[in-house]
Amino acid sequence: MNIHEYQAKELLSKYGVGIPAGIAALTVEEAVAAARQLPGPLYVVKAQIHAGGRGKGKFKELAADAKGGVRLAKSIEEVEAFAKEMLGNTLVTIQTGDAGKQVNRLYVTDGVDIEKEYYLSMVVDRATSRVALIVSTEGGMDIEEVAHSTPERITTITVDIATGFQAHHGRAVAFALKLTGELNKQAQKISKQLYEAFVALDCDMLEINPLVETKDGNLLVLDTKMSFDSNALYRHPDVMALRDETEEDPAEVEASKYDLAYIKLDGDIGCMVNGAGLAMATMDIIKLNGMFPANFLDVGGGANKEKVTAAFKIILADPAVKGILVNIFGGIMKCDVIAEGIVAAAKEVNLQVPLVVRLEGTNVQQGKDILAGSGLPIVAANDLGDAAKKIVAEVKNVA
Ligand code: GDP
Ligand code: MG
Repeated sequence: MNIHEYQAKELLSKYGVGIPAGIAALTVEEAVAAARQLPGPLYVVKAQIHAGGRGKGKFKELAADAKGGVRLAKSIEEVEAFAKEMLGNTLVTIQTGDAGKQVNRLYVTDGVDIEKEYYLSMVVDRATSRVALIVSTEGGMDIEEVAHSTPERITTITVDIATGFQAHHGRAVAFALKLTGELNKQAQKISKQLYEAFVALDCDMLEINPLVETKDGNLLVLDTKMSFDSNALYRHPDVMALRDETEEDPAEVEASKYDLAYIKLDGDIGCMVNGAGLAMATMDIIKLNGMFPANFLDVGGGANKEKVTAAFKIILADPAVKGILVNIFGGIMKCDVIAEGIVAAAKEVNLQVPLVVRLEGTNVQQGKDILAGSGLPIVAANDLGDAAKKIVAEVKNVA
């Protein structure tokens, strides 16, 4: 789960991390009121969307040469003008895709006099089973470019979760950022605070870009992105409350209501599968047969008619779907129950695209009989390879 920059900064400030003063705003009036509470004379108006690259982004509704989603304002009037330009408009950044994201919230912050921008992030590194701290002197807006062209300017330091953050980790961070004196000490302190927040909040990613050195010699978190391990969210109701469903794919939000693991993909074949491993294999075999999956969808072990119907509706609501492949292994679930669910759901949603169903496991014959006797144009398949070949052939036939 992702949260907004202003929410992440509020969380981080509880760990002692220095952040510029700021206030979130939902309307132009609120943005102006927020600016009035800040010291000025420099303010920053920041679009709050779950995507980075806002500074270099473009608003669809504004002229091509208009500035992006992070604007420095020199007066309250400018704050008002920028808020008007941003709110309700669609910001396209390198991370949003072409569709962009509508800006519904702003963060108005105190403008900082920047001496230098640094980069510091933390991720769970599965290869080493550690927390990896990634730091660079080249902070700011082009870290992807730094990683690509000058990877030697990026240092990775890993921390063993069992022994935790030690003084030498802090020194390594400060050294990698080439900081001396007071700033070196601050870097050690802030990296420890960020690590503590990362672990305590069950983050899977925390990115500070930029971490800035101010003209008056302080290190501040100027921008942050934070995402959480969904499996640990139950431990953090306060974090869960920060979820902004308007930022998520509507189909994925709908799926989560039914406890379906659904992820939208770019292909044409909708997949409904039980078990993540089987779902991955199904996607692979569709590709092997020359087409691409339109989604990943795991209905889970205990799928009933309601879940199957919801899954069908979600798949069919995607206009890209030209055919559906159902691949269910009846282990805990019985194939006849699944078949009944499929038939009922197919009738309810008035299925218009080809449907291939592969069932295997407990009561498989009863299941196949139900599908065959349903009067629906359901194509039965015997195994995974057969199912993939059949759905690809059906879709190509229709096209
Ligand atoms: P992003 O484009 O989504 O990563 O948004 P950021 O919050 O990182 O802002 C982009 C850039 O705007 C930063 O790298 C800074 O160069 C600049 N910026 C943001 N806030 C301030 C500020 O308070 N003062 C100054 N001078 N520049 C800022
Ligand atoms: Mg940034």
